[in-house]
Amino acid sequence: ESRFDQARFIPADAIFALTAQYQEDLSPQKVNLGQGTYRDADGRPWVLPSVKKARESLFEQGLNHEYLPIVGLLKFQQATARLVLGAELSAELGIKVATCQSLSGTGALHLAGLLLRACQKSPPKVYIPEPTWSNHHQVFGSLGFPCESFKYYDHERNDMDIESYYSTLERAEPNSVVILHACAHNPTGLDPSEEHWRQIAHLMKARNLFPLFDAAYLGFNSGNLDEDAFAIRLFIGEMNMEAGICVSFAKNMGLYGERVGCFLLANKSKQIAVNTQSMLEMLQRSEVSNPPAFGARIASQILGRDDLKKMWYADMITMSDRIRSMRNALYDHLVSLGAPGAWEHLIRQSGMFGFLGLSLEIVLRLRGLSSIIILTWRVKEKYHIYMADNSRISIAGLNEGNVEYVARSIAQCLQ
Ligand code: PMP
Repeated sequence: ESRFDQARFIPADAIFALTAQYQEDLSPQKVNLGQGTYRDADGRPWVLPSVKKARESLFEQGLNHEYLPIVGLLKFQQATARLVLGAELSAELGIKVATCQSLSGTGALHLAGLLLRACQKSPPKVYIPEPTWSNHHQVFGSLGFPCESFKYYDHERNDMDIESYYSTLERAEPNSVVILHACAHNPTGLDPSEEHWRQIAHLMKARNLFPLFDAAYLGFNSGNLDEDAFAIRLFIGEMNMEAGICVSFAKNMGLYGERVGCFLLANKSKQIAVNTQSMLEMLQRSEVSNPPAFGARIASQILGRDDLKKMWYADMITMSDRIRSMRNALYDHLVSLGAPGAWEHLIRQSGMFGFLGLSLEIVLRLRGLSSIIILTWRVKEKYHIYMADNSRISIAGLNEGNVEYVARSIAQCLQ
């Protein structure tokens, strides 16, 4: 008998498992469209020139390996608040914003959950769009929050379902939390328009719902960080709402493995902020003691030096432009190859992902998976294209060398 008899077997994370499957495939044709990590035009991971330069300058300064303070590198947090809120709003709010460096975006979401749970008698309901990034349910579910999905996307029309969104907010239990993808909604690539955001903010304010922004793609989506931060600044600035922001620098700085993130909380008063700040410190101490230093130092260099910040803005344009051009190339190839179906939704979307709208059967076929249904078909051709089960593709995995192969394979499978 073991005290762990009750342990359940949890299947591996689908996206990480997909990467492992891709790595085992020996075909030179293989294409990885699973994990959302940027790749350059040659399909290789890209270290941003601004990051390279910041890294070199850190080494020149002579790094030590001391602990950071519990809530992290102060300069990094201040620069992040200024970056996300904009100089004007962050100066206006001043210390009404509590900040805590986190283990990337995931850690920021988790910290937000810990704080929300610690500040309420019972954990409020968390409304999560459907579909969403799969970890949202795990992070908030594992903290004991009741999670409720609401319809965000209409699979028939391949478009956002804004009416369902509004009606969810109109009947949501007051005091609930709503997870908002600040931009580049994962997986659909569709965001509310500015008018939609205004309406969402009004409805949420009227019902006293707490906006928790998941901001994993600021600047990476459009290439312009201010544009991508529109919704955050609308809620906190113009609408004067209390809101949490979970910032990740994984994508926009390409610092995936360094785990660089920050939780920002715009509070109603300075006194509340002093208290929430102290609670974040206690919660962080008990979870990770203090956050990792290296990545935050890189980000802090970039955000704090005009020359590096300028380079970084150019790097974000490089990444978002390449993704946009690959999105267009995939669309053009699908159309010119006569792939059955309509593909306009692909170019309406933005950000790292394309949400194709393929059935699971087609997705598995593209992965070259043997199943009884496709055994006969396999004799003809086996494909080596790896995408998530819901047919979300990471567009960064496309390049001039493989985009036609991907489009042709999709077209053939649909014929
Ligand atoms: N939120 C969303 C919507 C994401 O897509 C991601 C990354 N895939 C994250 C949060 C967090 O990622 P990380 O913890 O690596 O910053």
